[in-house]
Amino acid sequence: MKNPSFFVFLLVFIAFAGCKPGEPNVSDTAVLIANANVIDVATGQIAKERAILIDSGRIVSIGASNELSAQVIEDRRFDAGGRYVIPGLWDMHVHIEGEDLVEDNRALLPLYVAYGITTVRDCASDLGELVLAWRDSINNDQLFGPQIFTAGSKLEGINSIWKGDLEIANEEELEQMLDKLDGYNVDFVKITENTLPGDLFLTSVKEARKRGYKVTGHVPYDLSVEELATAGFSAIEHASYTLRLGSDDSGIVDSIRAEKLTRAEAGAVYNSTFNQDSAFARYKMLAEQGVAVTPTLIGGKQLAYLDENNHQNDAYLKYLTDRFTSKYQWRIDRMAGETPEQKQGRKDRYQLIAEQLPYLHKAGVAILAGSDAAALNTFVYPAQALHEELVLFQEAGLEPLAILQSATINGAKFFSVQDKLAGIVPGMEADLVILNSNPLDDISATQDIFAVVNDGEYLSRQKLDELLQRVQLIKEELDKARKTE
Ligand SMILES: [Zn+2]
Repeated sequence: MKNPSFFVFLLVFIAFAGCKPGEPNVSDTAVLIANANVIDVATGQIAKERAILIDSGRIVSIGASNELSAQVIEDRRFDAGGRYVIPGLWDMHVHIEGEDLVEDNRALLPLYVAYGITTVRDCASDLGELVLAWRDSINNDQLFGPQIFTAGSKLEGINSIWKGDLEIANEEELEQMLDKLDGYNVDFVKITENTLPGDLFLTSVKEARKRGYKVTGHVPYDLSVEELATAGFSAIEHASYTLRLGSDDSGIVDSIRAEKLTRAEAGAVYNSTFNQDSAFARYKMLAEQGVAVTPTLIGGKQLAYLDENNHQNDAYLKYLTDRFTSKYQWRIDRMAGETPEQKQGRKDRYQLIAEQLPYLHKAGVAILAGSDAAALNTFVYPAQALHEELVLFQEAGLEPLAILQSATINGAKFFSVQDKLAGIVPGMEADLVILNSNPLDDISATQDIFAVVNDGEYLSRQKLDELLQRVQLIKEELDKARKTE
């Protein structure tokens, strides 16, 4: 070789020749979204008039439209017309539940995507194994729906009120159930407190953490929030539990353990001793310990205002089967006998919980937007409820950017996948929502969707409407078939 440097130059030239601007270096199924205002949800900055090149489910490049458009055939170029692009939304708390609602739930999966929700976190149900199978089928492109992270089945005590729980009475059974969850390949571990004693709850948190899982759930009456945080609890589901930090919760927990106080009495003490300043000071402890909070406001709001809001004509009901909505009745019945004072108490409590959001955020606690949509959660409509939840965050005083983060990158950070999901940069998975107006001005913009990109597939408004029509059709068919059964 007379001139090795020329040879190196030649190699480099060959390697880069395919990437010259204007020459195709993507497959013929690549998609280009031109003329977009791209919102960086980490900083709130907007990059104007950008083009997003997507291929094989990933964002390949972001640049000027005229430079990137030649790489994609005309049919696969879409003009965003100066609209706003955000990462696909995450609903961090849903339950795909109901053994007799399998077809109903399956039909609702595309609806999530049509509502711009490209990822959901399923917080356990009686359909745990089925949801795990759906998660894998969606990942393998055999089923159309949002990407699913799931707890499968949750840990509980013996004879819990929830169906499908993994019930444990001692540490040996705990290890057996954790083995089972390992076998299921669950994405995190969820624990609730219906019949599970506090000490075994705490051991469950520690043991699941040892196995590398994120662990979330409710807060038992006989454990303090701080004990859970110290044990490595990853997230508190439902902001109602954070209110305990406004009282002397360790003292109250001690009294419960010593059987000097019943649960009902403890509830009354918490209500009468809540102090906002103490709560805020201790939200900082949550932040320091890395404990996130999923507020799930919408469910409590729907119940608290049931006497003022008639849901019979809700447009969304066209997507839900009669069997699905029949599950709503139990909470309505349970509340039927409430006195006016109890009804007002519900509203006051809802307001107090909602008021905690700015404090939690200011203290540095990661907020995860989750609807708690589930057949058993009355009028908490799958997918739509997340958008309602985001508006409630705004009414509670959170800034739109913080709200967008709660429904995008905070979820990805929770699962430590923020380098793959929930950002609009090259290399990330292409899950996007194109909005007609700027969500940083008003978060209700998330409800005005121009198009969705799900796993790299561009879905126009027309395509999204077709998906929704199909959901409605399946509902009508299921209702009809069941009437003649
Ligand atoms: Zn839930």
